[in-house]
Amino acid sequence: MAELVPASFGMLVHRAFVEFERQRRIFDLPERKFHRARAGFDIGVHFHGQKASNPLGPAAGPQTQMVQNLVLSWLAGGRIFELKTVQIHDTLEIPRPCIDATNVGYNVEWSQELRLEKSLREYVGAHMLLEMLRASGVLDGTFEDESFAHSDWIFDLSVGYDLKGIQHPRVVEFMRSCIDARDIVEELRPKIPDRYASLRDLDFKTDMMKTATLSTFHGCPADEIEAICEFLLREIGLHTTIKLNPTLLGVERCEQLLHDDLGYDEIRVAREHFAHDLKFDEMVPMVKRLQETARECGLGLGVKLTNTLVVHNHRDFFSEEVMYLSGAPLHVLTMSILHDVRAALGAEIPISFSAGIDAHNFARAASCNLVPITTCTDLLRPGGYGRLPLYLGNLEGEMERLGVRSLGDFILRVEKQGERAARAAIGELRHALRRSASSLTADPTRRETFAGDAEEFVGALERRVREAIRGSPYHDVRAALGAVWKTRPASVRAILRNGNERSDTEQLYARMVELAGHYNVEPVVARTTHDPRYAAARNARLPRKIGSRLTLYDCINCDKCIPVCPNDANFVYHAAPQELEYANYRWEEGAFVEEPGGRFVVEKEHQIANYADFCNDCGNCDVFCPEDGGPFIEKPRIFSSLETWGHDRGVGFYVRPGRKNSIWGRFADGAEHMLQMDPESGQTVFRSAGMEVEIDPARHRPIGARLPQGEITSTRLDMRPYHVLRTLLRGMLDARSTNYINNNRF
Ligand code: SF4
Ligand code: SF4
Repeated sequence: MAELVPASFGMLVHRAFVEFERQRRIFDLPERKFHRARAGFDIGVHFHGQKASNPLGPAAGPQTQMVQNLVLSWLAGGRIFELKTVQIHDTLEIPRPCIDATNVGYNVEWSQELRLEKSLREYVGAHMLLEMLRASGVLDGTFEDESFAHSDWIFDLSVGYDLKGIQHPRVVEFMRSCIDARDIVEELRPKIPDRYASLRDLDFKTDMMKTATLSTFHGCPADEIEAICEFLLREIGLHTTIKLNPTLLGVERCEQLLHDDLGYDEIRVAREHFAHDLKFDEMVPMVKRLQETARECGLGLGVKLTNTLVVHNHRDFFSEEVMYLSGAPLHVLTMSILHDVRAALGAEIPISFSAGIDAHNFARAASCNLVPITTCTDLLRPGGYGRLPLYLGNLEGEMERLGVRSLGDFILRVEKQGERAARAAIGELRHALRRSASSLTADPTRRETFAGDAEEFVGALERRVREAIRGSPYHDVRAALGAVWKTRPASVRAILRNGNERSDTEQLYARMVELAGHYNVEPVVARTTHDPRYAAARNARLPRKIGSRLTLYDCINCDKCIPVCPNDANFVYHAAPQELEYANYRWEEGAFVEEPGGRFVVEKEHQIANYADFCNDCGNCDVFCPEDGGPFIEKPRIFSSLETWGHDRGVGFYVRPGRKNSIWGRFADGAEHMLQMDPESGQTVFRSAGMEVEIDPARHRPIGARLPQGEITSTRLDMRPYHVLRTLLRGMLDARSTNYINNNRF
């Protein structure tokens, strides 16, 4: 199984800046795919007291485990990142392949594949690199409204899976180091390359993680979930979100939605999990108790909808008996749960949502006041992270259509529930004023005067706010509220004197938005359940295959394998097209004797390779490659060091640039060869079959050999590996395309 090997922080920093400077792209995401926020649209949100420029982000999963994943999500517009789940068992063997995103979306993935200490450095390093990109200003010109330069983002920890594991000293140490990352920041700071030395002095954020989402095993009992949350709140001090399972729906309702409503007849839910998982009527009182605990701790508590659904494996993609369903059908199931959870826990409970989110339903989810809204399966499809800007673009487009400029006003207007929400929120204010008046004075005349003033003020407030909600384009509800607020009579001022004007109006506005988001759930869920785009018939198409097989060089160059890789492991390099007949040689009695060889053909300059250290064999690029074989298997797998190359036993290469450029290669027959080329003198040495042979690089013929004394009297020199190695070596070092090999010296 391929093991993920994170790159050095210095190399990643250098790569990000140099690649943008030279090619206007970062980690293979071209600048045109960066999210450009529309000027004048405010889609910022708060998540447990922290600000983010929008509610969108990658869910805990393959897009959030390494530095480059997080940077790519950010460039494409993500602003709340659910970091990949960490747990005490951090040396798991994950079955491969582990992702089947062909149409519906299944996986057998699990938690972080890196050791806890390495995950910590990836998360802190990613945060630092984002801060460096923002502070350096290099990207400012690429964003219409420069929102990028001022963007706020949030890293949300994800921890699993049971109380014993979460209380383990290593996991506790990990969480504490995320809350106070000073030591890791200081460890990484000097690794910033000299070229960017000025950025070493940045005042990097060290309290970069304040929230955690709890992921539990299927079947984790309610009292254990509660105990873990208590621990996270009371002992660790993190705002906590409980990730709930779709089994909350109950098996009958789940099957009815999947089979009768959506037509996924082949999906067989794992009924046994429904019996053991947390039940809805256990969840509600548990969450209410935990909300109380959170309040006592001055922290927030929310729920996340939802985990994936365990189903029996009816395909032949994975070898496991069960697999985890995501994508379109899960979206419908989770929307139904959202409906029930809102009904049971009210508008106030913070809900984050992750289930089948894509560019077409993101705005709908945002209208339900869900924060964050995260996505995973959709980003595994062609375009990868580059699909994110459309999510935000579609939301902004919807806002423009409705004539609103802020996300709050969008929530108030989009489902026509805003006036109802305003009535309810202002009704609460009216009630509070009446209550305060009676406690303020026993004098009935003063009370009557006050009641009249308050009623007049509240009436005006409601009128103006409701007008603004249904009113003319770009009529700002918050501004309307603020304008009336200024006119409140002295008696009302006296009662409201505790708060400052801005926070009073903000609170009222936030309450209206909260209630509107709550009311919006009903119509949104009803439409979603009957939307044919989630039905089986619309999610059955397989990615197109064209019947040809991939080889080491050349393919149809569709480049789909690059963005579909969550780790940016596949990349383009430039090779010299060539077609030649080559000879092999036989060493016999002190001289090379020519033998029949073969043809070596490279047709195209544009070639694909795989950076093996970032590839975990998830299989996703194979699914979407139109040719057969899998890019991560058939294309040259390049390792970052002799050590990782030596550790692997399959076909693979290691390139070491230097005064003499060198490449090591292991081929399908298990044989290892090495080629060294001196760029100045042209001297070329090929080590193969125990010989060290000097080659004439113009004619590709041996011109001398050093043999281990007395050991070799007769052997064959196969020249195909030489041609493969020399072509790869030049290609990898060709600076026209920045990659992990030609960019690792700084
Ligand atoms: S390897 Fe496959 S997906 Fe990648 S460019 Fe070639 S044909 Fe396209
Ligand atoms: S290169 Fe392919 S198999 Fe490897 S991590 Fe990327 S998508 Fe998965």
